[in-house]
Amino acid sequence: KLSQRLKTVADFVPQNSRVADIGSDHAYLPVYLLKKNKIEYGIASEVAKGPLENAKHEIMSENLSDYMDTRLADGLLSIHPEDRINCVTIAGMGGTLIRRILEQGKSHLNGKELLVLQPNVGEDRLREWLMQNNYEIADEKILREDGHTYEIILAKKTSKKVEYTQQELKFGPFLMREHSEVFVEKWENEIQRIKSVIKQMNQAKHDKPVDKIKMMNDEIDEIKEVL
Ligand code: SAM
Repeated sequence: KLSQRLKTVADFVPQNSRVADIGSDHAYLPVYLLKKNKIEYGIASEVAKGPLENAKHEIMSENLSDYMDTRLADGLLSIHPEDRINCVTIAGMGGTLIRRILEQGKSHLNGKELLVLQPNVGEDRLREWLMQNNYEIADEKILREDGHTYEIILAKKTSKKVEYTQQELKFGPFLMREHSEVFVEKWENEIQRIKSVIKQMNQAKHDKPVDKIKMMNDEIDEIKEVL
């Protein structure tokens, strides 16, 4: 039942952890983790009532109410010290939203939690937040499912200074080195997408957006450098 995407997120969750799944919707991820005996405790957290009801229903029907709580809250505000959460998962949203959730809720983190993040888009903005807040990227995965490409980022706060190049922020420090087939395919598709936008722009009869076209050609060069 669980998607390959969420299974891959689950693989990053350490054995015996206490997990808060933010934006949990049906709570499929923490339910799966509990059924696999991978976690001791889970919070399915939601900002919206409908999805929270989905989570409650799933937990009840799997008889897991003793090991899980549901919380209605914005982002990390559902996490309290007494929960002793040591792993936070945030999956299936845009990178900019995940970034906002982390930024607005960072006072609810103790800095020891492992973050397992799966942005659907905007990975660069998320990596930038991690760097600026001294989170080190410990691992990454990329996968393709049902015509979508997904990236998963594992991050941990460190006392060292964290620095990534613009290239690493855009492509992912682990992903660009691993250079998997899925990675190459993702960025080849992106080149094709940019090329078709450039083609349309070049067809403009008046006021051709030359600056924009130049920027897009530069971006293609940037991508070609890592392929
Ligand atoms: N995590 C699940 C997954 O990966 O399949 C569900 C993803 S679903 C597309 C995104 C969920 O995030 C929605 O149910 C939405 O209500 C929730 N969400 C959006 N913003 C949120 C926030 N600030 N705090 C908590 N949940 C949020």
